[in-house]
Amino acid sequence: MSSSLQVKPPSNLLVPLHVPYKLLLGPGPVNVPPRIQIAGTLPVTGPTNPELFQIMDDIKQGIQYAFQTQNNLTLAVSGSGHCAMETAFFNVVEKGDIVLIAVKGIWGERAADIAGRIGADVRYLSKPVGEAFTLTEVEKALAEHKPSLFFITHGESSSGVLQPLDGMGDLCHRYNCLLLVDSVASLGGAPLYMDKQGIDILYSGSQKVLNAPPGTAPISFSESASKKIFSRKTKPPSLYLDLKWLANYWGCDGKPRIYHHTGPVTNYFSLREGLAILAEQGLECSWARHRENALKLHKGLEELGLKLFVKDPELRLPTVTTISVPIGYEWKDITTYMMKNHDIEITGGLGPSTGKVLRIGLMGYNSTQPNIDRVLIALRDALQHCPKNKM
Ligand code: PMP
Repeated sequence: MSSSLQVKPPSNLLVPLHVPYKLLLGPGPVNVPPRIQIAGTLPVTGPTNPELFQIMDDIKQGIQYAFQTQNNLTLAVSGSGHCAMETAFFNVVEKGDIVLIAVKGIWGERAADIAGRIGADVRYLSKPVGEAFTLTEVEKALAEHKPSLFFITHGESSSGVLQPLDGMGDLCHRYNCLLLVDSVASLGGAPLYMDKQGIDILYSGSQKVLNAPPGTAPISFSESASKKIFSRKTKPPSLYLDLKWLANYWGCDGKPRIYHHTGPVTNYFSLREGLAILAEQGLECSWARHRENALKLHKGLEELGLKLFVKDPELRLPTVTTISVPIGYEWKDITTYMMKNHDIEITGGLGPSTGKVLRIGLMGYNSTQPNIDRVLIALRDALQHCPKNKM
């Protein structure tokens, strides 16, 4: 029979879907535990069903707990960590606003790119990868640039640095500046107190310590940030990420909730369960477990003769560990070997850390002693079998 179709059904789609299991010990996403996988199989609901609004309310409370905040404007955006990053900049920043970006890895670079695209006057405060900023350095830059917003990454997953945040909020507020913090790679894995630390805008992602699939990103705004957002002179450049709409959809504006976009309901179910697991375990237990397991991993790596990339032990991110690429090896040989022979994902560097580091993630459900043992055995094997002195 002749067909009017010029494009035939793709033959690849006519064979069953197959996704092999890998142990995901890179910087994310991480393996999704059964309880969260099951949540993802529940029936899809309409975007304005009362049951869905209840689940969204649960998520909001879960985020308030994970962030340690009472902020009313707290929700999950429909997208990955980058989407939360854009939500923050698109809503808080207007053309010409001075923003100061702390760059010590890829995430500051990405933030500066986003801010530049919306016409912000972007200023930089930079450090080499592997280091963190001091309050004195930040204060000097605030005094010099007088920004309305300061961006900094808490868990710099490209370098493995945990940025200390105590005192940062007060400092920014003394300079009439809002503090925006990226906690995609650190939330639930290292102490973070949005309200106590004076963070005005905080965002994270679903696919790291929260163990949910990628696709939703928690975000929260302080009273001061909300004031700036709702008194802006121009509309944000994205309707999809416009917080006036999102505040209503997430029940944060006290008005009847109406359709804005079709929320990724299946991902909401998974995120709700990820937050529920964190609430059951307790944040402090989660922080302690990530720290203990990171220390065990660090010890094992040093016993293999490997060098941790972050020199100061206090600045090591418990969720993502960076190792200097061992001399004589090609980093990609090691990651490829581990994937091929052990079904384990670890990764090389990203942005400015590319070629310098290997990255091992121990996050959420994956932060366990058996996984530490597995990754160390696989690494030892890779070091024995990958070609050396290729340089
Ligand atoms: N910030 C940090 C610190 C991250 O680790 C990541 C993801 N690796 C992102 C932002 C971006 O998140 P996503 O990939 O979910 O867009």
